[in-house]
Amino acid sequence: MLMREERELVAEFGRQMSAAGLSAGTSGNISVYDPGRGLMAISPSGIGYFDTRPEDVVVTDLEARIVEGDRKPSSEWALHALFYKRKPHIRAVVHTHSMYCTTFAVLGRPLQAVHYAIADAGAAEVPCAPYYPFGTLELAEAAVDTAGVCDAVLLGNHGLVACGRDLVGAFSLARNLEYVAELQYRALCIGTPNVLSAEQMADVMVRFQSYGQPDGKKTGY
Ligand code: 13P
Ligand code: ZN
Repeated sequence: MLMREERELVAEFGRQMSAAGLSAGTSGNISVYDPGRGLMAISPSGIGYFDTRPEDVVVTDLEARIVEGDRKPSSEWALHALFYKRKPHIRAVVHTHSMYCTTFAVLGRPLQAVHYAIADAGAAEVPCAPYYPFGTLELAEAAVDTAGVCDAVLLGNHGLVACGRDLVGAFSLARNLEYVAELQYRALCIGTPNVLSAEQMADVMVRFQSYGQPDGKKTGY
């Protein structure tokens, strides 16, 4: 089976995404990219994550050609492909409809530095792209353009996209951003949150570079 390891990872993290309550039903999608082959392994469209087997995960190139797999790939294949084309450092993309991120996406409001964990996105703010229908090239372009240097973007009236150097990183970013979004929502319910300054966030980003174990095997941030 072509890209067996990547397809197993996509299936495994789909289960984790559902188990963590980050995306209800068949919403959201996941991919892993192999730049050497120019291929991505992407979750199938409309199949529940607990029902998705590695062989259901579809291998495509970045021009929507199916290379292996009997299933129809995620309707957001263009979104995933465009992130790989425009952000050469990333190897995985996680798209969720997680509740608190999507709440801000409904408001068209960015996630702000109400907690330092937002620095995991490589920026002090996660911007919100304008609404376009799911599965469209317009959505893909708006998402990548709006993300800019940030490794994540909110999709207006839709959800979140989180990118990473691997699937552990992209998934961890999606989880961290849902935490930040919930904090921002809760803080706004009872007051006005203190937003960390650009200098404070620049300092956090430097500290994140040496966070965790020195062997580079980070499982967070
Ligand atoms: P797929 O099941 O086609 O991946 O679509 C889910 C989704 O979230 C569309 O934006
Ligand atoms: Zn979606």
